[in-house]
Amino acid sequence: AFLSLKDPDLFRVQAYVDGQWIDADDKASFEVNDPARRVLLASVPKLGATETRRAIDAAAKAGPAWRALPAARRSAILRKWRDLMLENADDLARIMTAEQGKPLAEAKGEIAYAASFLEWFGEEAKRIYGDTIPSPTVDKRLIVTREPIGVCAAITPWNFPAAMITRKVAPALAAGCTIVVKPAEATPLSAFALAVLAERAGVPAGVLNIVTGNPKTIGAEMTSNPIVKKLSFTGSTPVGRLLMEQCAPTLKKLSLELGGNAPFLVFDDADLDAAVEGAVASKYRNAGQTCVCTNRFYVHDAVYDAFAAKLAAAVSKLSIGNGFETGVTIGPLINDAAIDKVERHVSDALEHGAKVVTGGKLHALGGTFYEPTVITGVTQSMKFATEETFGPVSPLFRFSTDAEAVEMANATEFGLAAYFYSRDIGRVMRVAEALEYGMVGINTGLISNEVAPFGGVKQSGMGREGSKYGIEDYLAIKYWCIGGV
Ligand code: ADP
Repeated sequence: AFLSLKDPDLFRVQAYVDGQWIDADDKASFEVNDPARRVLLASVPKLGATETRRAIDAAAKAGPAWRALPAARRSAILRKWRDLMLENADDLARIMTAEQGKPLAEAKGEIAYAASFLEWFGEEAKRIYGDTIPSPTVDKRLIVTREPIGVCAAITPWNFPAAMITRKVAPALAAGCTIVVKPAEATPLSAFALAVLAERAGVPAGVLNIVTGNPKTIGAEMTSNPIVKKLSFTGSTPVGRLLMEQCAPTLKKLSLELGGNAPFLVFDDADLDAAVEGAVASKYRNAGQTCVCTNRFYVHDAVYDAFAAKLAAAVSKLSIGNGFETGVTIGPLINDAAIDKVERHVSDALEHGAKVVTGGKLHALGGTFYEPTVITGVTQSMKFATEETFGPVSPLFRFSTDAEAVEMANATEFGLAAYFYSRDIGRVMRVAEALEYGMVGINTGLISNEVAPFGGVKQSGMGREGSKYGIEDYLAIKYWCIGGV
């Protein structure tokens, strides 16, 4: 009631296994809090290995009937689920803002983005084509088909509580796979609400399962269980490495979307106003808590002071507060650990000679509200250079040649997203080619959509999500060699 939902039935506090809403066998639970008001929202089940195994078994049992459906039927169910998401966008956004903190308008934007994966992959379901190959001998015919890989597991983060789920579940279900999802501890309520709508759309029992609880215990079961053929994970690089190791004994197919440390290069021929607009969009969205958020700004000497002044002016106009209040553009950070990290990075830079232009401290609202910040005089020896800050802070580094800018941009173990602003077509080509990243935004700060391949290189992971490539991770190729023809 406190959320004033149009459909209170979307607010669920139980896990969803084999079409049933369940508690933990031992009734254990954990708390979900509102990061803005710092109050309890719900207690949800703390499941363990036993319940996870049950969910995996349910997914295995539901598999044959689901994959046997005509693609058009699976497609229609995904389309219906997408329609229900959009019809219930206000409620879904309210649940998300309550548990995650992002401003309501941004939460609603995420619901539309999340629903777009259901639409896109529902359509792709009908286009899982095979091949015929000209045979090297006259008595044979060679055929290639692409089949669902089987039972999948997904582990998702709290920064996009809906979109990170549909970006994995939609291609899995479109391909004919069934899936068990473990949402982040901070944001299970959005996941449960999605399951309510999936059920209403006609997703059969066992095809989609949502388990919440201790990440280590659930992760251990998902990675060691031989029934699970594929794991898709979005989260931090250390956890990604651990899961990859845990999947080695059963050789699961893996998709890993891990940390980023996105550089944003501003060349001296850039349209500075456009660059500032792109900078704000890429840095301050979700209070800086996305893996493609800019982490480091590299600005050419000649435009450094002008860019810093314009960016600080734009940033000081951002409105921080509870995401339910109208006009708020920046919500709280997810928890105290997030604030600690931002404070460590800022104080490390200030101790080494950097200067605050705007912001630079905890906001007067207290809690996990941090002032949108711009810092100048940042150098490669500071923490900002190598670690992902995940907060609303723009550190400005300086460069004087293209080669130097590219070298500093690439000097990280990560390789997810990079951005740059330039109007020189030759420079655009050279720099885009030289950046060691999976995604490059040129004269834009917003790159994510359902039709394009999202993913990284280096320690940012493997596999691609969204786009025509995104379904490949859920398919296995089968080659038929027909002899005696
Ligand atoms: P973040 O720092 O963004 O919370 P994490 O990588 O810790 O990043 O979390 C992303 C997801 O990974 C969450 O769903 C979390 O519960 C899960 N997770 C964290 N540790 C483990 C683990 N040891 N095994 C499985 N999942 C884990």
